[in-house]
Amino acid sequence: MKHLVEENLQAVRQQMALACQASGRNIEDIKLLLATKTVPLEKLQIAIQAGEVLFGENKAQELRDKFPLMEQSKQVEWHFIGHLQTNKVKDVVKYVTLIHSVDRLKLGQALHNQLLKENKTLDILVQINTSYEESKFGASPETAVELVEQLSQFETLNVKGLMTIGKLNATNEETRHCFRLLNQIRTQIKEKNILRVEMDILSMGMSGDFQVAIEEGATMIRVGTSVFGQRYLPDEYYWNENTRIDD
Ligand SMILES: *Cc1c(COP(=O)(O)O)cnc(C)c1O
Repeated sequence: MKHLVEENLQAVRQQMALACQASGRNIEDIKLLLATKTVPLEKLQIAIQAGEVLFGENKAQELRDKFPLMEQSKQVEWHFIGHLQTNKVKDVVKYVTLIHSVDRLKLGQALHNQLLKENKTLDILVQINTSYEESKFGASPETAVELVEQLSQFETLNVKGLMTIGKLNATNEETRHCFRLLNQIRTQIKEKNILRVEMDILSMGMSGDFQVAIEEGATMIRVGTSVFGQRYLPDEYYWNENTRIDD
């Protein structure tokens, strides 16, 4: 019998295909990243067996807890998608190939310092708060271009694109507006031809809104609940200002 996670994955893949059809896009141009916060290792193993290779974590500690799985399944790439405090940079850089959530210069500087020490480079996305909600992290759309320009000065960081969390509990049109805005910012940055900056990745869309995100140009969607089921911790635990330790 098929495990529920496998069935859910199949359903998500099907919905991705439908959204691609509806918007004339090629499904090969959209990557599925599984958001794994709070998900036990056994469920992740099922996803890996089903062929999934892209996982995203929100917290340094939870990332570290996945280390046994990383050793077992070398084909899996781990990304960091949560709010990153500068004092956790070292723990995160060790494990991930892409950080989606670089949203301030100070974090870029901390990453650069750590990467210099390790003689490494790292791919990053710049997170933009397209919904203007105070509870969300991300640089404001107005400062996006400037931040990308500043981050591009750190030669250890490769800017590969942008990330956003669409407005939640909103109408489709409100959410669509967030995704469209991110795509517009991407165009704006591309037109500036900033040295070493690429804008190939648009990371947007979650369980509730990935179809809309695909229609608006997402190249990577981040899905948790639709594959793994409801989490026992509310998203505020991961996203809210109250859990922010300012640095
Ligand atoms: C949890 C999370 C997701 C996935 O959310 P679901 O609604 O469970 O699909 C995507 N992106 C980020 C940044 C997350 O924290």
